[in-house]
Amino acid sequence: MGALIGILGGGQLARMLALAGYPLGLRFRVLDPAPDAPAGAVAEHICGSYEDKAALNHFALDVSVITYEFENVPASSVEHLATHVHQRAPIYPPPLALATGQDRLLEKQLFERLGIGVPRFARVDSPAELEQAVMKLGRPAVLKTRRLGYDGKGQARIMEGTDLGAAYRALCPADARPGGLILEEFVAFDVEASVIAVRSRTGEVRTWPLVLNEHSSGILRRSRAPLAAFWSGAGSASTASLDEQATVAATRIMEALDYVGVLAVEFFVKEGRLLASEIAPRVHNSGHWTIEGSITSQFENHLRAVAGLPLGETGMRFAGAAAVMHNLVGAVPEVGEPTGLLGVPGCHVHLYGKSARPGRKVGHATVVGAPAEIAVRSEQLRSIADQYWQA
Ligand code: AMP
Repeated sequence: MGALIGILGGGQLARMLALAGYPLGLRFRVLDPAPDAPAGAVAEHICGSYEDKAALNHFALDVSVITYEFENVPASSVEHLATHVHQRAPIYPPPLALATGQDRLLEKQLFERLGIGVPRFARVDSPAELEQAVMKLGRPAVLKTRRLGYDGKGQARIMEGTDLGAAYRALCPADARPGGLILEEFVAFDVEASVIAVRSRTGEVRTWPLVLNEHSSGILRRSRAPLAAFWSGAGSASTASLDEQATVAATRIMEALDYVGVLAVEFFVKEGRLLASEIAPRVHNSGHWTIEGSITSQFENHLRAVAGLPLGETGMRFAGAAAVMHNLVGAVPEVGEPTGLLGVPGCHVHLYGKSARPGRKVGHATVVGAPAEIAVRSEQLRSIADQYWQA
């Protein structure tokens, strides 16, 4: 029988990991507190809290390796697993990567230490420190919670007239523990990009081509890859040099963290330079296009890495290919209608089995082909995704 992979979190990422792993003979168990967790349809589901020791022990029984699909797994749960089952079932990516990915300050300090370009930032633990940080970084700037922020949540723009006391209190209310914020310079970026990379247990690193990302209301709306097929505005620097910068950054981060598995690094692209914004120590939404666009998807390679199998090729599915992925957010589209997503030639639809709710990622759809060939299909896809979009 194939190895049993334990995944902390049973959302769509765990669901897509399981779907990628069955052809390799792998089996899956997920731990998730939601009874209707999307991965429950395709994996054994332990329904319990991440803090519940009995649920954690049940989850860990007989697994060969433990991984996770979201970075907000409580550190104490990972420590419990590390102490009790690590000898038998390693945890990949390593807990240090999880701790770093949970904290915007730690990740920026890591980028700085590794010589990776990063927006200027300052730690903010009190209203007085916010005043000083704004003096140092200027306005506009972006104030963020260090922890538990995602999809643009837990952040506020500091503009010319912004009342700093009110901004501080909005993110750090009086009844919460004080501090725990970070101020970042506002980057007037040309575009946003990300790199998906994978490192094996033996230290082999592979990266997929740089991805061009567009967000609305802080939520990823569209990803296109490779970046070079869709954007040529790097100025004097070539897009090849951006790919090179991204590979160097991801490799340094993974080596520093003794990383195993897939890592995503998000960047702002400005004047031919990459500025690292954040890492996700897991498979990432901006890598969903790899399912159909690459020789090996991010999901399969994450599993290969954590299970100690050889990594797969990360090149495009065929020479000259490009991929466009649209997120489906809010309402669940009727895919079967003649004018629906399945009517778009070559469209690959992924629904996550989630109910509709504004701001919720309920699925995604991808088209792959030569850039000129998929231009029309991508526009059709966009217009359908836009009809359902509720942020
Ligand atoms: P985050 O939650 O940090 O991923 O931020 C969500 C989105 O907000 C990013 O994808 C950017 O579009 C925008 N954003 C975040 N930080 C900055 C910044 N320092 N400068 C400009 N835009 C930002």
